[in-house]
Amino acid sequence: MKKVSILIPVYNEESTLILLFNRLVVLMDNVKEYEWEVLLVNDGSNDNSLLLMSQMYGKDNRFNYLDLSRNYGKETAMLAGFDYITGDCMVIMDADLQHPPEIIPEMIRYWEEGYDDVYAKRRVRGGESYFKRKTARWFYKLLQKLTPIPIQQDTGDFRLLDKICINALRSLRESQRYTKGMFCWIGFNKKEILFDQQERVAGETKWSNLKLLNLAIEGITSFTTKPLRMSSVVGVFVSSGAFIYMIYVFVRALLFGDPVQGYPTLMVVILFLGGVQLLSLGVIGEYLGRVFYETKNRPPYFARLYNGKKTD
Ligand code: UDP
Ligand code: MG
Repeated sequence: MKKVSILIPVYNEESTLILLFNRLVVLMDNVKEYEWEVLLVNDGSNDNSLLLMSQMYGKDNRFNYLDLSRNYGKETAMLAGFDYITGDCMVIMDADLQHPPEIIPEMIRYWEEGYDDVYAKRRVRGGESYFKRKTARWFYKLLQKLTPIPIQQDTGDFRLLDKICINALRSLRESQRYTKGMFCWIGFNKKEILFDQQERVAGETKWSNLKLLNLAIEGITSFTTKPLRMSSVVGVFVSSGAFIYMIYVFVRALLFGDPVQGYPTLMVVILFLGGVQLLSLGVIGEYLGRVFYETKNRPPYFARLYNGKKTD
């Protein structure tokens, strides 16, 4: 019998967990052709989530959990999950039931047909503000322009992955993670299915706009060095312009003399160049920061596993 694992990162979801457990139990009881495993990754919650998980773990042996030593963020929590999952395939979903578990059997069907990565695309983005939808759209457009790999739009982390993809993802150990890009980067046989994203059943989103901005910068800097290229290009254009202007000023001074004037032009040029320089430095700094974190080569997380067998 093939084994299907469900990976769920959890951060302060006490209000949704019971509902989630009930929906999962119904699903797993109905689909008897597979062995099931649920791995809940507690990402350093400071509410009762951990307690609820351990209760479920005691009641139903299909439920296991991994307790991270602190809050590492969803991207790292997912990596931790990849490391400990044991199934022949894995479904990643959110704890807030925005991803309906009821479409998992459909994903499994496509997996059985031979697809390695069955990803759920949002037909509607339920529970998201106009602002978030718009900025998300712009971000994907920008990222698609900047990277050669095809980045999927309106697709979150809700997907089923074959073992071969899980192994591939396990081998990508960078500490600054943008997992949505990795799914595309590893390739393999992909299949799209559509779903309607639900509203969060309870609780609040853990992603502030600032966190989302950080994730966006992560996405760009970890998948392309185009911004570096762009600062060189801007540099070339600006210095060519400056060179031409220099000749113009010089010739004019020779022909017509050089009475003191031109304070506005001087200011404009200085401020503009200063801005361009700061921007390029910032771009270089972003990449340098990433190099800094990666060269430390720290393990991405520490965790304690509860799966009925071993503790480490
Ligand atoms: N999450 C996590 N660590 C974090 C933030 C979020 O594991 O630091 C989990 C959260 O519990 C949920 C999933 O990631 O299962 C998605 O989070 P959320 O629903 O807040 O994001 P949204 O759906 O609003 O983008
Ligand atoms: Mg959510």
